Amino acid sequence: MPEDSPPVAAKPLSAPQKALRKLGLVRPIDLALHLPLRYEDETRLTRLADARDGDLVQIEGQVTQQEVAWRPRRQLLVTLDDGSDQVVLRFFNFYPSQQKQMAVGQRLRARGELRGGFAGLSMMHPTVRAAGGVLPQALTPVYPTVAGLPQPYLRKAVLAGLAQADLRETLPDEVLNEIDHLRPWDLRQALSFLHHPTPDMSLTQLEDHSHPAWQRLKAEELLAQQLSQLTARRAREHLRAPALHAARGGLHEALLAALPFQLTGAQRRVGEEIAHDLARAQPMHRLLQGDVGSGKTAVAALAACIAIDAGWQCALMAPTEILAEQHFAKLADWLAPLLAPRGLQVAWLTGGQKKKDRQAMLQAVASGAAALVIGTHAVIQQQVRFARLGLAIIDEQHRFGVQQRLDLRNKLSESPQGDATAWEPHLLMMSATPIPRTLAMSYYADLDVSTLDELPPGRTPVLTRLVAESRRDEVIERIRAQIAQGRQVYWVCPLIEESEALDLRHASATHAELAAALPGQAVGLLHSRLPPAEKKAVMAQFASGAMPVLVSTTVIEVGVDVPNASLMVIEHAERFGLSQLHQLRGRVGRGAAASACVLLYATPEGGRLGETARERLKAMAETSDGFEIARRDLAIRGPGEFLGARQSGAALLRFADLAEDSALLQWARRAAPRLLDRWPELAARHVDRWLGGRADYLKA
Ligand code: ADP
Ligand code: MG
Repeated sequence: MPEDSPPVAAKPLSAPQKALRKLGLVRPIDLALHLPLRYEDETRLTRLADARDGDLVQIEGQVTQQEVAWRPRRQLLVTLDDGSDQVVLRFFNFYPSQQKQMAVGQRLRARGELRGGFAGLSMMHPTVRAAGGVLPQALTPVYPTVAGLPQPYLRKAVLAGLAQADLRETLPDEVLNEIDHLRPWDLRQALSFLHHPTPDMSLTQLEDHSHPAWQRLKAEELLAQQLSQLTARRAREHLRAPALHAARGGLHEALLAALPFQLTGAQRRVGEEIAHDLARAQPMHRLLQGDVGSGKTAVAALAACIAIDAGWQCALMAPTEILAEQHFAKLADWLAPLLAPRGLQVAWLTGGQKKKDRQAMLQAVASGAAALVIGTHAVIQQQVRFARLGLAIIDEQHRFGVQQRLDLRNKLSESPQGDATAWEPHLLMMSATPIPRTLAMSYYADLDVSTLDELPPGRTPVLTRLVAESRRDEVIERIRAQIAQGRQVYWVCPLIEESEALDLRHASATHAELAAALPGQAVGLLHSRLPPAEKKAVMAQFASGAMPVLVSTTVIEVGVDVPNASLMVIEHAERFGLSQLHQLRGRVGRGAAASACVLLYATPEGGRLGETARERLKAMAETSDGFEIARRDLAIRGPGEFLGARQSGAALLRFADLAEDSALLQWARRAAPRLLDRWPELAARHVDRWLGGRADYLKA
């Protein structure tokens, strides 16, 4: 571009326009699909004499008095008389223009919550406009919004969007007819019903999500999600991946022989499922789910062996340094002796590494000498170049962001044959949080799922007890008894520091308390602020058995494996989520000794535990089955937590509810492949309508 003609600067966005962007409301269809949160009734005027304390009312009257008072702080008081009674309108923030608008003698229409009281009626910060003018005929929609985006502006934008959006039917009759109450409503009708209520429409009608208008929206939304996942799945079918076969007499067999245990039936079955996928020339995209302690690491190691046998590299990524470290220790122990004779090694990559060590590791990764590369997200950084990455394994996959998963897949971007075909490594994701069926059917519809549904033999079930904070002493007594038997104990605290809002016990205060109560015993302290080297040292001491008690924050939540630990105390258990409690509890019961988990709970001053907290603790005491726990967690909290990072980029379901709308979900699952095969243009239009540019994220 010639220098004398600078590029035309785009017109800067106004504040409300920016706010619209922030809400993702860019295209007319995005606006049209932005549905009201609730409705307000502005169709009537109420006489003050007929209203009661707490009523949301709209009144009209004349200003009889106005003053600025200073007690307790500066405020504008405007007295309005509607002929039946008087009300004082109270404003803490106000402008001179408002004082003028509400000058004595003006007639106003005010809307707000009425407070009756000793000093007469009042309204705090009502909406005020000049009196007169026609009353709206129908209920007024109120939209979800953000700061800087006033309702009237948003309402206008939404209605403009609704008028411009392409709402042509994307669902052929044949597909629509399969679901009962969809037929009479099309999308245009459904949307104008919800955005433009007619005068005869009641609040109950509009807010009832079983109404055909809502059914239509939910069905469309679920279908869009199914379509995008199916598309992603099919796109993957066109990708190439190296076909990985275990070699006869190779590493895979050698590891099987070297493992200090027999595989469980479930491990064998899942191992075969993975081996079958790896042998294909399309990238695997498999989720391995198994309860804590079900032995996912061994399955991962065997998969890695297949890749290495076939002459490729394997990367294993874990969300925390401690977990990565544990994997490294275990896998290096198993595999290094088998790899060494072949001139191969296990490499270790982490953020906290010394530059020189890191350089050496990077070189081994680039040359291919590092057959197995283990680490934190350092594994996927730009400078890391694999010679031949064939298999990527992600542990605790829900801890990772969508982008990180995509990055890992992109580590094999160049075709090993130097041709134009797109190649990707095989991908194995592992998770100890089992996904309930409805979620597996919707969010993870593009994944193959393997389940370890059997624990290794010799595990004793963990006995769970709820103990009130007031009985702390008894718990400490119990710790003493465990130590006397040569066992080890975890004590988990929820936060590192005392915060004013949450009166949580300091992990270090607990540490000091336990150290004092257990003289002569090593009591360790682990928290996320500790330098990595110190963390490592504490963990190593605990793992070696030299340290009987470990006080920690939730840093030990994932993956730590110390079979001699037989007691887990969770302090302020009421503050943890259900899956988190389950994961923590899974740290014990890994050896042959009878194990227990004590959930210490504190009730608010003089009060009772909240409903949710009580339900969670009860569920923990009643079951140790990870699937059952996941099911209850979903019921208590909704799907957000399970999706982890996926929710951030993906279109979370806005309207449909997986628990409630399973019939619609079933329908969407059946409809998606049919639509895609027979009406691909309609399918594309449908996905674009609902997901726009965001569909990409669902692929990860
Ligand atoms: P998770 O699925 O939670 O990652 P791990 O892979 O850490 O579980 O395994 C838990 C423990 O069980 C480890 O000590 C592991 O060595 C051991 N283990 C795994 N498989 C078996 C088996 N088939 N028999 C006995 N112990 C096993
Ligand atoms: Mg694990």
